[in-house]
Amino acid sequence: MTDIAPDVPPCPLELRNLTVSFTPPRRNKFLRRSGEEKPVRAVDGVSLRLEAGTTLALVGGSGSGKSTTAAVAARMLDCDSGTVLYGGEDVTHLDGGALRARRRHLQTVYQDPFASLQPRFTVRRTVEEGLLIHKLGATARDREERVVRALERAHVPLPLLDRLPHQLSGGQRQRVAIAAALVLEPTVLIADEPVSMLDVSLRAGVMRLFDDLRDAGTAVLLITHDLPSAARHADTIAVLQQGRLVEQGNARQVLSHPAHAYTQALLEATPRAGLRT
Ligand code: ADP
Ligand code: MG
Repeated sequence: MTDIAPDVPPCPLELRNLTVSFTPPRRNKFLRRSGEEKPVRAVDGVSLRLEAGTTLALVGGSGSGKSTTAAVAARMLDCDSGTVLYGGEDVTHLDGGALRARRRHLQTVYQDPFASLQPRFTVRRTVEEGLLIHKLGATARDREERVVRALERAHVPLPLLDRLPHQLSGGQRQRVAIAAALVLEPTVLIADEPVSMLDVSLRAGVMRLFDDLRDAGTAVLLITHDLPSAARHADTIAVLQQGRLVEQGNARQVLSHPAHAYTQALLEATPRAGLRT
């Protein structure tokens, strides 16, 4: 990576040389002797730069370390070594209120909207929650306006404001989760397999929301194992294999001319039709 000139704005999210290991729980006393209890390197020297107004797709097979990388980027999980920077500021070791203040600018949307929404919160309360936590919006009316704006951006019909999660469809639920992230006007949005639990017919509509956000200047980290989706929605792509980045670059270029055998294997496991869009 070249040096950044001082007048270039720092990128919204940068990860430098992250390493994360997990020690598997010991199931019985014999495992220790057989060496099977060795820590698993889930993330091994990962460096990424996420620029404003771009989408970076982080792709790789199941267990390649995508979600662990996202969790470290969101400071939900500590890394063993490496650096997490938000807007050029090292936040690797921040905690408490200082971390909370920074994290407002980085929001995450998860795979399972049912699990990520509070079952007893109405749509209104779900979206308002972030404003309350971060003390944004001086009056109830101001907050309501922000909630409505976020729901409109996420294309959630306003008559749903007083519904509970179980009264929504899967697609509506994920849009509400996205609205709850948008209400904080994040500079970085991390989406971890955001449509993989939705009906195929609903996926394109939700994916377009991420395109709109990117076009409005948000930096989007899109985690997916779906390469056609990465080709369609991402500007750049980073390929993870067993915790290591094996290939990085322009999304279309990497997917049309993969340099690494693992990327080729991922592509071969993908129906070709999807890449022609
Ligand atoms: P992906 O999201 O690409 O499917 P993950 O980041 O979830 O991959 O997992 C990477 C590796 O780390 C896997 O081997 C997984 O089993 C392991 N792992 C993830 N989370 C934990 C955890 N909390 N405890 C132990 N091992 C974990
Ligand atoms: Mg995952």
